[in-house]
Amino acid sequence: MNKIESNCLICSQLLKSTISWKMLLTKRYSPTICASCAARFEHSQSATALYQYNEAMKDYLHQFKFLQDVALAKVFRQDLYARFNKEKAIILPIPMHPFKQQERTFSHTDELLKAAHIPYIQLLEKTTTETQSSKNREQRIHVASLFRLKTDANVEHKDYLLFDDIKTTGTTLQHAADILLQAGAKNVQYFTLIEG
Ligand SMILES: [Zn+2]
Repeated sequence: MNKIESNCLICSQLLKSTISWKMLLTKRYSPTICASCAARFEHSQSATALYQYNEAMKDYLHQFKFLQDVALAKVFRQDLYARFNKEKAIILPIPMHPFKQQERTFSHTDELLKAAHIPYIQLLEKTTTETQSSKNREQRIHVASLFRLKTDANVEHKDYLLFDDIKTTGTTLQHAADILLQAGAKNVQYFTLIEG
């Protein structure tokens, strides 16, 4: 048994985690948040997301994305590792527009994967800085593609798994999947941390 002391990344209270042999054998990463913060997140029933959007998740996203607390990428590393660990498809995180990334200082979607040491590649480029939530349903459906493929990308006959932080309407994921399928990808699935 080893005693490791650190603080909860969400509420800052001291974490006194006792690392057992069982945990070392079954989990790759130790928890970064306390049990009471973890209990506020709601697991998703869906096979394509880990969590449901709720108040705790709203606070988490605010802290992680808008206040740019990059350490929070680690909160879900064990969950993400467990999901992607044996994935055979090529993982493609949904990119941000470069201007937006500059403003936010990091790509939160990439950071979630990096924190869990999940290999991924980037083949898509965002073509617009507009967000989908600023449009109504009719506008979202008729918008030009949100993405383009990088010029040297060859996706023919390959399997892809798109990864995004949150799925609300599904428009973003649909646009990304369409671009890949039109370019000859064999199969495109998606997975998100949160379902809206
Ligand atoms: Zn906590």
